Amino acid sequence: MRVDFNVPLQDGAILDDRRILAALPTMNYLIEHGASIVLCSHLGRPKGKADPSLSLRPVYERLRELMEEPVHFASDCVGPLAEKAVSELKKGEILLLENTRFHAGETSNDPDFAAQLASLGEIFVNDAFGTAHRSHASNVGVAKHLPAVAGFLIEKELAFLGEALEDPEHPYIAILGGSKIADKIGVVTHLLERCDLLLVGGGIANSFLESKGLDLGASRSEPEVLRTAADLLARDGNRIKLPVDLVVADKFAEDAEHKIVDVDQVPEGWWSLDIGPQTIESFTAVLEGARTVVWNGPMGVYEFQAFSKGTIAIAHALAQGKGMKIVGGGSSADAVSLAGVEDQIDHVSTGGGASLRMLEGRPLPGVSVLLDKQAPLPVLDEEGNEKPS
Ligand code: ADP
Ligand code: MG
Repeated sequence: MRVDFNVPLQDGAILDDRRILAALPTMNYLIEHGASIVLCSHLGRPKGKADPSLSLRPVYERLRELMEEPVHFASDCVGPLAEKAVSELKKGEILLLENTRFHAGETSNDPDFAAQLASLGEIFVNDAFGTAHRSHASNVGVAKHLPAVAGFLIEKELAFLGEALEDPEHPYIAILGGSKIADKIGVVTHLLERCDLLLVGGGIANSFLESKGLDLGASRSEPEVLRTAADLLARDGNRIKLPVDLVVADKFAEDAEHKIVDVDQVPEGWWSLDIGPQTIESFTAVLEGARTVVWNGPMGVYEFQAFSKGTIAIAHALAQGKGMKIVGGGSSADAVSLAGVEDQIDHVSTGGGASLRMLEGRPLPGVSVLLDKQAPLPVLDEEGNEKPS
């Protein structure tokens, strides 16, 4: 089973164990259905060689606390150590393998390395959505050798970021923010194919406003970006809603002097770092009637408290909506938890890059290789045979 145990560590201590907890439903399901589990994951970026500071041992310690079943650890993910540990594994027991990225073959998707990993199991379950946009040995390579299915985490991501947004209930509103329009062109294009209205904030809104000939002060965009923004406005401008006012700052800093201005009043040399109150009001009004909302990218530099109001307000407006609410993207997920509204959102995606790729409508290599793709896991009988449903 490929999991995402890429947890934040400090001096060997796990700062946030949510990714470990998130794997438990699939693990428990497998144990309940008679399996023993060989877990593998990457942690950090060890560049293809063993790095003790990036060992999965702390995760093993945490798993032992969380699971009733015996948990074992192998200090290599392939080779004699791993093979011995697997051969000693009893039914209902769990084995965690050491960091897959201690081998260069992981990220290069080396066929021999993938075959070695695959030889440690009989069925491959992928539940690591966060790496599903990568073609690595432990999520794509192994699937060539074994029957490969999705775990519950991947299944949920596909249900929301895939099915729900492919065939949404209308009105369907998309909210887009963040810093780099160049990275998100694919997302804008794909969202506009399905949504009724696209609300734009953050740095991306600055580029759209600038492409309309407005002077955005120090917040300057590249000419290429401006051309793309202008093209999108020319084609779909009637369905793109831009800010009408902004919070501007005399420097890009937490303690900057700041004020609220209309979009055509940005003072020379000042930075546009958040959406203004009138924009918040009009975006909020639109969200009230939505049946489906997807949000990616903060409305401003929310890391600075003075410029977090727009993002926090949109998080609350989203949470209060009555339709289906979906959030994707690293910073956006972060903002939702900062606003304390996680519980009121139907789905907050756990994968930054992978969720963006889905919002672009592009296939994920780690999902494309799975046999069931969106179907649930098979139900196995005592002997491990699939039960007819
Ligand atoms: P996500 O991770 O949700 O996909 P992005 O990575 O695209 O979001 O963007 C997040 C970053 O965008 C944040 O660090 C935030 O500070 C920045 N940002 C948002 N609005 C602005 C702005 N007006 N000017 C500069 N940076 C911005
Ligand atoms: Mg990001």
